[in-house]
Amino acid sequence: MPQESNYWLTTVEMPASLRQQLPESADVAIIGAGFTGLSSALALAKLGVKVVVLESETIGWGASSRNGGMVLTGLKLGVNELISKYGRELTRRMYAASLETIDCVERIVKEENIDCDFARTGHLEVACKQSHFDDYARQAEVIAREFNHQLRIVPRNELRDEIGSGIYYGGMVDEVSAGLNPARYVAGLGAAAMRAGAAIFEHTMLQKIDRESQSGAPGFRLTASRGSLRARNVLVGTSGYTGAATPALRKRIIPIGSFIITTEALPDAVARELSPRNRQIYDSKNYLYYFRLTPDNRMLFGGRAAFFPETDQTIRQSAEILRRGMISVYPQLRDTKVEYVWGGTLDFCFDIMPHAGQMDGVYFAVGYAGHGVAMATWQGQRMAEWIADGKTDNPFAEIPFPGAPLGLYNGKPWFLPFAGAYYKVLDWIS
Ligand SMILES: Cc1cc2nc3c(=O)[nH]c(=O)nc-3n(C[C@H](O)[C@H](O)[C@H](O)COP(=O)(O)OP(=O)(O)OC[C@H]3O[C@@H](n4cnc5c(N)ncnc54)[C@H](O)[C@@H]3O)c2cc1C
Repeated sequence: MPQESNYWLTTVEMPASLRQQLPESADVAIIGAGFTGLSSALALAKLGVKVVVLESETIGWGASSRNGGMVLTGLKLGVNELISKYGRELTRRMYAASLETIDCVERIVKEENIDCDFARTGHLEVACKQSHFDDYARQAEVIAREFNHQLRIVPRNELRDEIGSGIYYGGMVDEVSAGLNPARYVAGLGAAAMRAGAAIFEHTMLQKIDRESQSGAPGFRLTASRGSLRARNVLVGTSGYTGAATPALRKRIIPIGSFIITTEALPDAVARELSPRNRQIYDSKNYLYYFRLTPDNRMLFGGRAAFFPETDQTIRQSAEILRRGMISVYPQLRDTKVEYVWGGTLDFCFDIMPHAGQMDGVYFAVGYAGHGVAMATWQGQRMAEWIADGKTDNPFAEIPFPGAPLGLYNGKPWFLPFAGAYYKVLDWIS
């Protein structure tokens, strides 16, 4: 059995945060020390704003240290669906934002000197069916025409240059995407935010937010497990771990489990055979697999092996399901040892879109749907701008934020087994 722990965490030491009492007040209180919260804290602190981050566990404890480290362009929904839902203009701005997110991560990594193996390796999407491959050409044509962004279609007979697997019908490459070590990246963001003056409090769980005016100016009182503080503004960046302290937001987020295994380090020749260009790879299914090499040549292989968030049981089950999945893609790895397995929670909104805005005066940015390494970093920067300047250019704040159909949801996703079965059937028939 592989170790039930996160491989990335073996490569990093998280920065030490503050142990003293919470201050009486702050300009901005941020909930959650992941990419969203820390990117925002960094930007606000650099503007001289007094910012406090409350994290119920430890820096990067949530999805930000547990993910595949794929820094991806694009959104979860396809471009044609986006255009028909939101129109050309807004979709153009969203797509441009998705490209900007990669530059945003690269800029922060350079400026803050974060040692996280950021590399523009590009991503490769691989088609599980002929019909999926046929759709790539249509998508690439729309993206080139509407957004002036070039994707490269790779026919099946040329796919060996991209991936050492014979099971796919072709692929589509975006050279702009990148890969990084997410635990080192979130650790670096935390350290940079603290250097800039942000105060981070770990093991401090927000329990309640109440409105409280301060000398006539509107503001909030935050009650947390380690005391309370006043803040003029609050930003919630709790993603798939959003809980009872922000009930209105929780009702709009479906927490979905995603799981990853990593193998032992592979010999160079085997690693190059599996992924000759070291791409960030994912397939075309709804119930998808995503995979890549780590910087030390392990195969990292992830998927939604169970729909429920991570528990000892779902992690254990996922190890074997993912190993079988990995061998179906790469039979070469049949005898390779799987050393680590872990899981984390994704935040899906009902429309599978990122959302940012204010609810009852409290700012939030959520809804990354497994596409959050770059987008959460970018949203953190935009939210900082919005809070500090009172305005921002953020297309994801301009779209409606739907709740559950018929309001049938209180934050506990009773329908996940049905959703899981639905997507499995959809993958089978479409
Ligand atoms: C297994 C997995 C693989 C993924 N792979 C990729 C990938 O390859 N590429 C990609 O782009 N995206 C990927 N993602 C998604 C990406 O990791 C997330 O979108 C991103 O990390 C979200 O960052 P965040 O800061 O918003 O939230 P998180 O990193 O989840 O942080 C939220 C934090 O809020 C804290 N919190 C919650 N409630 C409270 C409270 N009441 N008080 C105080 N603190 C609280 C939590 O403890 C947590 O640390 C993956 C996710 C998972 C789980």
